[in-house]
Amino acid sequence: MLEFCGKRCSNTKHLSFLSLLCVLLIAANPVQIRAAQEVEVTYTGNEGFMIVVEGKKILIDAFHRLGDLKHQELLQNGKPPFDDVDLILTTHTDHDHFDLHMVGHYLTNHPKSLFLSTKQATDAFTKYYKNFEKIKARLKGFAPEEGERIHFSHEDIDVTMILLHHGWNRKVKVTNLGFLFFIGGKKFFHMGDSEIVLSELNIYNLPEEKIDVAFVPYWYFTSEKYKPALQKGIGAKQVIPMHLILVDGGPQERLRIMNRIFSEFPDAILFSEEMEKSVIQ
Ligand SMILES: [Zn+2]
Repeated sequence: MLEFCGKRCSNTKHLSFLSLLCVLLIAANPVQIRAAQEVEVTYTGNEGFMIVVEGKKILIDAFHRLGDLKHQELLQNGKPPFDDVDLILTTHTDHDHFDLHMVGHYLTNHPKSLFLSTKQATDAFTKYYKNFEKIKARLKGFAPEEGERIHFSHEDIDVTMILLHHGWNRKVKVTNLGFLFFIGGKKFFHMGDSEIVLSELNIYNLPEEKIDVAFVPYWYFTSEKYKPALQKGIGAKQVIPMHLILVDGGPQERLRIMNRIFSEFPDAILFSEEMEKSVIQ
């Protein structure tokens, strides 16, 4: 809509009238006619990503000690491209998704950044982080019940958290959050290490959310147990498989799984190297 107005306005004699019409339409209802923005997604290993749109930055499951030390340093110290992040989201406290000291260091040096995660994660800061007092106001911990949606807004980013269980058979009960977030006219969904199946996922009616981009663990692409949740329970326009660096069986198996995903889901956006970027229209 905005582009249409711009082109017509510059090519006709009705410049002032159409310009005025554009301004009035924008003023009357800025949300409905706002075009979706270009989104830049940067992969930080395992299930970690940075999403940048309209000058807003979100890091999700990005702070872990896997992969290249240089990238860990950039993250921990908030060096470009990881400077001035608005929100740090963490789905759960497993080491391949969350390093308390990396996040703590970042928050200590970036007083405008907020941390959203489980209550288990924020409790860990209380116990184990020496500068807890300095960052505690920006630690937001949540423990949604099954079927519940918890909403949080910050700097024009709307976040919804839901409980997506992390497997019923594990010895230690780790709360795993699913994050829905709306930024730059697009809706994103990150599942963390969910092991939820379709019959359990249906409680959230996710297809009604009209998700643009879903970050989904690879087992939802390869296992007959989980595929129905991906195909019927999410309804995303674009999907990004993740958790591929920790595939049992090493690099060869990882490559085999990536090829398998690519052959069955050719439109999936596959990241293979840390710091790889993709621009999503
Ligand atoms: Zn994991």
